[in-house]
Amino acid sequence: RSSTISVAPMLTKLQSDCATPLPVLRHVADSMSADMRAGLAVDGGSDLKMILSYVDSLPTGNEKGLFYALDLGGTNFRVLRVQLGGKEERVIATEFEQVTIPEKLMFGTSEELFDFIASVLANFAQQEGGKFHLPPGRKREIGFTFSFPVKQTSIDSGILMKWTKGFAVSGTAGNDVVACLNEAMDRKGLDMRVSALVNDTVGTLAGARYWDEDVVVAVILGTGTNACYVERMDAIPKMQGKFSPSGRTIVNLEWGAFSKGLPLTVFDRDMDAASINPGEQIFEKAISGMYLGEIARRALLNMAEEGALFGESMPEKLSMPFILVTPHLSAMQQDNTDDLQTVGSILYDVIGAESNLNSRKIVVEVCDTIVKRAGRLAGAGIVGILQKLEEDSTSAFFSKRTVVAMDGGLYERYPQCRQYIKEAVAELLGPETSQNIVIEHSKDGSGIGAALLAATNSQYD
Ligand code: ADP
Repeated sequence: RSSTISVAPMLTKLQSDCATPLPVLRHVADSMSADMRAGLAVDGGSDLKMILSYVDSLPTGNEKGLFYALDLGGTNFRVLRVQLGGKEERVIATEFEQVTIPEKLMFGTSEELFDFIASVLANFAQQEGGKFHLPPGRKREIGFTFSFPVKQTSIDSGILMKWTKGFAVSGTAGNDVVACLNEAMDRKGLDMRVSALVNDTVGTLAGARYWDEDVVVAVILGTGTNACYVERMDAIPKMQGKFSPSGRTIVNLEWGAFSKGLPLTVFDRDMDAASINPGEQIFEKAISGMYLGEIARRALLNMAEEGALFGESMPEKLSMPFILVTPHLSAMQQDNTDDLQTVGSILYDVIGAESNLNSRKIVVEVCDTIVKRAGRLAGAGIVGILQKLEEDSTSAFFSKRTVVAMDGGLYERYPQCRQYIKEAVAELLGPETSQNIVIEHSKDGSGIGAALLAATNSQYD
């Protein structure tokens, strides 16, 4: 039997279940704005935690001196130093080092993990030289990017709520992660000081803002996803009269937890049910890199079983969860050959599927359907944030230039995804307004961003 005949209606069904026409996008954007307001009103007021970052002075470009950054957000750990030269000289020099966290430390004790971090840092600091200079009498200051859920208590302290991303370190949850690091540095005799504890989206915003003062929103679209933006103090009822000299602060949405009005399929629901956190992070599961490959796999498995997508025999590995990953989808969509050779070899290598041109075309359509939904929903989320700012603004917010800084592997390496984000933003805002909204890639801004926040929050100024 000809596979494409029985599969075609299944593809059509998938496309209609994933469809994001303008009314759907508008509903998502409106719900995002409403959830932001509810989360700003009271803790626990909505899906969005609207976490206060305590970052209320952003880099201006005038920062000077030597600063360090530490970035712990997954299995890779980065240390960086930057010598800043103010408005004229800007970034004089940077150096960084990346280290993989040994697997046993992900399951060890808090002391073991932080001792390891402190020793990498001590070793890195020891190699300082050349263009890097610390003025006499000053300690080396650190911006610490820590991308796990933290209840921030000040710019330089925060309680770890729980480990995620495969970490199961005992003794850190419930404690101040800056204190954990300080104690480890003490044990090593390392005389450095954490001046800013930041989330990676906040670091990205700060890093992008250093170069462009119109940056007000930052979004990460990588393995996971999150967003933050610059908010007015008086628009945050739950702050209850707390004061910042600038009158502004960065708020971290933790938008992966958003869940309203999303067009979800049976494949999304099944993947969620089988996940380690069912019912949670629904937006993240629909738009971030960790999941897009798996959603596509589930759709293809269904087409293979019920529509003979790959003929009578079932590809052996197609039933293995997470065997197909988002970079595969991206690679297949970049295939420009007439007979979709790359698609064919990826299908063969990854899931052991024999394919013909028709089945390859369908596979590409499935990838496109999943990433189109992801990109357009991310775009709607961005517009939700902008809309909230517009509604509260006394000046004509949408008539001036506004920059959204983006980072993360999915955004960076999946051109179609990027395009779909742009299209959705343009559709929602209309041609005139969307000309003022610049969505730009801020590559690895979060490391430098954290160092910049150490500078703006330096104890010496
Ligand atoms: P993090 O794990 O901190 O989010 P990145 O921002 O580098 O790190 O994002 C990595 C993620 O980006 C991967 O898990 C993957 O989902 C996605 N990704 C990486 N390469 C590609 C690619 N070529 N095409 C699409 N997505 C990719």
